[in-house]
Amino acid sequence: METIASALESVKRRIAAAEADCGRPAGSVSLLAVSKTHGPETLRAAYAAGQRAFGENYLQEALAKIDALADLSIEWHFIGPIQSNKTKPIAERFAWVHSVEREKIADRLSAQRPPGLPPLQVCLQVNVSGEASKSGAQPDDVLALAVHVAGLPNLRLRGLMAIPKDTDDAAEQRAQFRILRGLFDGLKQRGFALDTLSMGMSHDLEAAVAEGATLVRVGTAIFGARPKKA
Ligand SMILES: *Cc1c(COP(=O)(O)O)cnc(C)c1O
Repeated sequence: METIASALESVKRRIAAAEADCGRPAGSVSLLAVSKTHGPETLRAAYAAGQRAFGENYLQEALAKIDALADLSIEWHFIGPIQSNKTKPIAERFAWVHSVEREKIADRLSAQRPPGLPPLQVCLQVNVSGEASKSGAQPDDVLALAVHVAGLPNLRLRGLMAIPKDTDDAAEQRAQFRILRGLFDGLKQRGFALDTLSMGMSHDLEAAVAEGATLVRVGTAIFGARPKKA
């Protein structure tokens, strides 16, 4: 069986190759290890191999791991859907949130961020596939949401995130990532100081890097297949 360390190395090689293929500087894309469903000892192995940023989707599961791994200097990213009655522990325990899609959630996260902690680093999640079932703000609503979030005292708006429609067609992958990139560039042109384009997962990170991703969120390619949720 492949070890976590060697899987992590392969993912880093894929990222480096993708950067080189499109002429981007080495190291311009960072790696978020998506560890949902995996136990603390698995994260510990990835940490021992040098990984510091971990992404979690399910709050209760994440809080248990944050407690179990409190001895490590992990940067925790929340990347799952957020219910409004669950914002407080997210504001208290995470460094980053990638899945802000409504003003009300942003307001609560800002109000509940404890004094003394740095601002919560935030990406706005955008629905780039047009599927009604998908999370994320509609592209037409992103500017208003960005204006709102940028005005909140305890959040720092860093960029945009998307989970495109799952497809193996590289052209279709790139077309969806290009929508997010276009919104990102549009906000920057309006003066938002954004530096994070959170897009690309195990099966499509090359397409995301080609379209300008600065952070890829990778689970399966590091930790193996997840058990299917019933
Ligand atoms: C699970 C998940 C990932 C990782 O997906 P893989 O295909 O396992 O790499 C990335 N982003 C989000 C938001 C996820 O929920």
